[in-house]
Amino acid sequence: MSVQIKPRILLTQTLPEVAQKRIESFDDIELIHWKDNVIPHSELLKLVKGVDGLICMITNKIDEEVIETAGDQLKVVSTMSVGYDHVSIPALKSRSIPLGYTPDVLTDAVADLAVLLVLTAARRLREGISAVYNGDWKVWCPTWLLGCQLTDKTIGIIGLGRIGLGTAKRLKPFLGSNGRIIYAGRTMKKEAEEVDAKKVEFDVLIKEADVVIISCSLTEETRGMFDYGVFKKMKNSVILVNIARGSVINQPDLVRALSENRLGAVALDVTTPEPLSPDDPLLKFKNVTVMPHLGSATVEARTAMANIAIDNLLAGIKGEKLPYRVELD
Ligand code: NAP
Repeated sequence: MSVQIKPRILLTQTLPEVAQKRIESFDDIELIHWKDNVIPHSELLKLVKGVDGLICMITNKIDEEVIETAGDQLKVVSTMSVGYDHVSIPALKSRSIPLGYTPDVLTDAVADLAVLLVLTAARRLREGISAVYNGDWKVWCPTWLLGCQLTDKTIGIIGLGRIGLGTAKRLKPFLGSNGRIIYAGRTMKKEAEEVDAKKVEFDVLIKEADVVIISCSLTEETRGMFDYGVFKKMKNSVILVNIARGSVINQPDLVRALSENRLGAVALDVTTPEPLSPDDPLLKFKNVTVMPHLGSATVEARTAMANIAIDNLLAGIKGEKLPYRVELD
């Protein structure tokens, strides 16, 4: 009697409940599940050996060494994220291993958070809430904690992709008839018409925008794109929001620009590193709000992401077309 060998799957963190139960319910796979928080790289290298499929997170660096260590039987890498800058594309491409990702289902959640961050920065929400809790709220005052409104403002979006467009659509009603949306990116976007957004050069955007929202993917081109030189060109009152990846901003340069009072307010969902130390110089500015990378953190988005990650994995280990596959070319 021949014994059927089950495909081995490594799951590097625990999925939202429904999806976790789903993956555990398959009796035709052998699941290796790292249950603690983030798997140390050394443990990842041990556990990945001999697996047929890998479900990973943005917290795992899936580099050449991991792929090489996994072995020739590896059929698919499935990341529970839309961004895939933590995965070595050349390592997968050279072995023709498909990469699954989870676009679309998190767009609403992240775009909601982008709007929340814009309004938080514009209306000085962090300072206001702190005042209530610290006992600094003394009396209503005509000049206390004045922010700015979005009416008639220019919103500049860096990367009018799914999340950028979702954010633009949500912000459009705030702008009134004299406000406008501009965007910078590599390509013209037909969808820009839906929000009357005009494509401009990056340099024009950073000079003209009252609100700059970073929603591009992290690539070699966008890494460190926002540096001191860029901050110097921005409006002194600018609101800067980053929901993409921390490394799109050169953070020491951001701290320098903030120290010189060059920026109006900054709100970040993503930083370098993550988590950010409570002693990080960025956290000493009262016009800076930092969120702990919660863009897609809704039950709806995370459950859908996890289910897509499972679907991609299952298709991959069977050698079928992944429902959501990153184009590696
Ligand atoms: P997407 O639809 O692929 O959009 C990415 C956009 O980046 C594209 O419009 C692309 O423009 C643009 N881009 C690439 N290179 C650029 C450059 N040099 N200059 C300006 N724009 C550039 O992806 P998405 O679903 O909107 O997600 C965007 C990013 O958000 C992800 O890559 C991820 O890093 C981040 N994210 C963060 C969270 C969070 O929790 N905070 C959650 C999800 C995603 P072209 O098409 O013209 O190249």
